[in-house]
Amino acid sequence: MIDIHTYMLALGIGNISFAVLMVAYIRDTEPSPGLRFWTWARLVAGTTQLLAYARPQLGVPALALVEPLGWFVGWALEIAAYCTFFEVRNWKRVVVPIAGLALLAAACVVPLADASYGDLMGLIACVFALSSISTASVLLNPKLKNPTLLQRIIGLNNGVFGLAIGSWAIGAAIRGELNMVETDVNQLAAYVSGYMLMIVNGFGFLLMSKQRNDAVMKRLATFDDLTGLLNRRAFLGRANEARLLALRQRKPIALLMIDIDHFKRLNDRFGHATGDEALVLFARTAGATLREHDTIGRMGGEEFALAMPGTDLEGALQAAERLRQATMDIGLLTCGNSYQMTVSIGVVAIEANEELPAALARADRALYEAKRNGRNRVELGSAVRQVA
Ligand code: GH3
Ligand code: MG
Ligand code: MG
Repeated sequence: MIDIHTYMLALGIGNISFAVLMVAYIRDTEPSPGLRFWTWARLVAGTTQLLAYARPQLGVPALALVEPLGWFVGWALEIAAYCTFFEVRNWKRVVVPIAGLALLAAACVVPLADASYGDLMGLIACVFALSSISTASVLLNPKLKNPTLLQRIIGLNNGVFGLAIGSWAIGAAIRGELNMVETDVNQLAAYVSGYMLMIVNGFGFLLMSKQRNDAVMKRLATFDDLTGLLNRRAFLGRANEARLLALRQRKPIALLMIDIDHFKRLNDRFGHATGDEALVLFARTAGATLREHDTIGRMGGEEFALAMPGTDLEGALQAAERLRQATMDIGLLTCGNSYQMTVSIGVVAIEANEELPAALARADRALYEAKRNGRNRVELGSAVRQVA
């Protein structure tokens, strides 16, 4: 059956391989939080496992102290990686003293009590059982914000490993011997779950980082940073989906193009920061007037678009008028002066079989008319027939 040395060799090779790949990955990529700690944890754990494999053949007594050092540093790095990833504040105040104390205890116990390799492994097994169960309790905590299935699986794996290795160590301690060569069921369970832990935790942490990066990238690609509204690309996509759905359901859909009046003047008079604030306040005001199925986006600069499924031209005109009024009521704070912001709005109803770009162009022309006719007003787009 599996002896501890062969097992350590397999784990060591696995962890070092992970570490090498991750060092190469981090070299050319901006690593997400915790990944650097994670890489170091794999490297230290892998080296320690290779040391555990080679130590009996090397016959250097000092290595008996280096090995527990490696286990504890690897453990502390792994905890640090999780804490950084989950943004646990003040983790250094807890992890560093615990790791230091555990290390000191091991450094004293091993030479003083003339502990055997089996005793040492029992001690380490207990520390790992505790840390794995703690990790599991964090990942399986029902209060965890938006936990992913991946986090749950990693948590479960940590829990199983913690229980398996804990019961193995405790069982062996009760019997008074930690048999590393003969195989009993507890030992086999500890070995198997430990191997799974290396694979699941190794890939799992990388995947958790990737999942988080993907979510950030998706947010950046979908939303406008300043106002939090959909950006142009995302708005066009959603508005087109809404148009197709309305067409299938034979329901009307209206489109509004909105532009803040004399925005350049506002910027010039009160500064860019006030201009930014005006954009945010307008986005908030517009958002508050929306219904559940409406979609609003920032098309660029001080220009916004609004798609209103299920709304006919008359309803859209009323909504546009409400938004125009609400914009005038925004209290913009400008170095002591009051400034009344206004918007011009072009409104069209998307006709059956009219493509979105064509409808947007009509709404844009209506907006231009609103500007030409004095601004702070709502203008209706011309019918499709006249455009063609
Ligand atoms: P009009 O009434 O005809 O629409 O005039 P306007 O001044 O609003 O339009 P114009 O296109 O001349 O100027 C738009 C200004 O919006 C110019 C640009 O510097 C400013 N702008 C664009 N994006 C931002 C932004 O994110 N923040 C701020 N503060 N200003 C912006
Ligand atoms: Mg403008
Ligand atoms: Mg403009």
